[in-house]
Amino acid sequence: MILRSIELDFWRNYPHLEASFSPTVNVICGDNAQGKTNLLEAIAYLSTARSHRSRYDRELIAFGVDHAFVKAEVFTREREFTLEARLSRGRGRQLFSNGVRLKNSAELSGILTTVLFCPEDLYLIREGAAERRRFLDECICQLRPRYAAALGEYRRLHEQKTRILRDWPEHPSLLETLDDFNLRMAQTGAILIHYRAHFVRRLLEVTPAIHREFSGAREELTLRYETVSTVTDPLRPPREILPELLSHQERHRQAELDARQCLSGPHKDDLVVELDGRSAKSFASQGQTRTAALSLKLGSREIFRQETGEWPVLLLDDVLSELDERRQDFVLSRISGGQVFITCCEADKTRRLQGGKAFCVRSGALV
Ligand code: ATP
Ligand code: MG
Repeated sequence: MILRSIELDFWRNYPHLEASFSPTVNVICGDNAQGKTNLLEAIAYLSTARSHRSRYDRELIAFGVDHAFVKAEVFTREREFTLEARLSRGRGRQLFSNGVRLKNSAELSGILTTVLFCPEDLYLIREGAAERRRFLDECICQLRPRYAAALGEYRRLHEQKTRILRDWPEHPSLLETLDDFNLRMAQTGAILIHYRAHFVRRLLEVTPAIHREFSGAREELTLRYETVSTVTDPLRPPREILPELLSHQERHRQAELDARQCLSGPHKDDLVVELDGRSAKSFASQGQTRTAALSLKLGSREIFRQETGEWPVLLLDDVLSELDERRQDFVLSRISGGQVFITCCEADKTRRLQGGKAFCVRSGALV
């Protein structure tokens, strides 16, 4: 998988940019606030039509302008693809692959696969379950269009059910549609659970070994997928998971009406990360947290390669500055193979990377 070039118009602080990249290592240097992260964000956006930093597309459009554009040439599966996203304030966004308008972001799945690692990934270990669900969703959406479509559907249903539960005391007739929403949420929820369980099983095959090496054989990392309590085996086909979800909903029906909140379903799932048998969320040190997060990301990169036969594009934002020398060496030795984009403030740290291209970013321009 190779990102050959990119073109940006009014993306964040880039008025206009055209750049072509090395198929190996691309080092992006520059002082703070010049646009390094913005460039990686634009690349990652073309994988899933989501930004890792902003919930709303409008935040990606340059201040004072009402549209933005990102376009990339990608070489994958022996073919050339042109991916394009056009964003506009108020009028939503349009996605294109080789000039053909896509119906939704799920259709982007499997074209440009990326793994992004950034300083905020500390939250992946530290924060609540939402961050870890986001990690699972980002990975599986890129690999499985069916999952991406189910996730989009589940989010829509969840939003509508939340509205019903919030407003029913004032508008009791809303409850007439509740059973229908419950059934559809359980159907799509069963698909999410099935895919998540399989992905976590794959992660468990590759990540502990990476982490062992990364930590100098000092720590043992384990992972566990936690989902709706009535599900006995999340690896089973969705149609077998469905009745278990329905029974959980049934048991929580009154509690949902009382709390006026949606309490049952995989929107509460978690990926429990443990180091030496203890919860990483509660006990890991700063360094351990960073190492565990990076192990998860490198694990997902491994799975992408096994699944697609190609390395995904690796986007490393400011990772080296946070690691000690030995861990820096580990990262730099691990990332050979596929195409890599790595940002940093000083160029010397990345000198060890052979070949490739170096760019310097200043105020939204490459110099
Ligand atoms: P650091 O080394 O601090 O991480 P960076 O080079 O990664 O810096 P970016 O995060 O890419 O910096 O941000 C560059 C600049 O883009 C920031 O000054 C930010 O305020 C600006 N910026 C963010 N969003 C927009 C937007 N929608 N329109 C214009 N500028 C924006
Ligand atoms: Mg940055």
